[in-house]
Amino acid sequence: MGDRPVDPDAETIETLKAVRGFVEAQAEFGLTEFRCARADADARLADFHESIRDCRMCGLCESRRSVVFGSGNPDAGLMFVGEAPGAEEDRTGLPFVGAAGALLTRMIEAIGFKREDVYIANVIKCRPPGNRDPRPEEIETCKPFLERQIEHIQPVAICALGLFAAQTLLETDEPMGSLRGRIFSYRGIHLIPTYHPAALLRNRHWKRPAWEDLQLLRRVYDNTAG
Ligand code: SF4
Repeated sequence: MGDRPVDPDAETIETLKAVRGFVEAQAEFGLTEFRCARADADARLADFHESIRDCRMCGLCESRRSVVFGSGNPDAGLMFVGEAPGAEEDRTGLPFVGAAGALLTRMIEAIGFKREDVYIANVIKCRPPGNRDPRPEEIETCKPFLERQIEHIQPVAICALGLFAAQTLLETDEPMGSLRGRIFSYRGIHLIPTYHPAALLRNRHWKRPAWEDLQLLRRVYDNTAG
């Protein structure tokens, strides 16, 4: 006798019956409220975003159009962290749009993820005028926002995109030449530095080492996430 075809509606009904039985059993012990811890964490990240949407804690608020918080999956196992928004990011309110953003999307896809699978953010949330380097006091003021984002997301691994993000997160002044190709720990989370996509657009000789860094990132992710 062959296997009987599975009726998806019947399967759903059986699952719902099982869930109902579980809930009723819990209610007998006085437990009446059920909450999903991950959903709570996602809501907290959204609340946090809302809370800094109009931040005026440093001078960059004077010239910015948007606080570019970050985008992607709040449950992401992989997080990519860049420097600061540029003109297009300031206009759209999203990180890594434009040519560098398109290259980052291809880099993410090259190691088997989709852009929406990962979370992307910057160290600095508002665009420095004329894309100048962020000042130390701006970094000090804004960096805790990134730290809180990382705490919320709890990724398996972080890819620091560019020297600024790598040096800020690792609190070092080592050059990229000695940082890339290595695995660091940021508060117990693996951190792999590599070149910023905008730098890769300017210097094609860095593409091969960046590809090696991405492969390292994927291996670290696979070994840790299981
Ligand atoms: S750069 Fe950061 S600290 Fe400064 S105004 Fe924007 S969000 Fe606030």
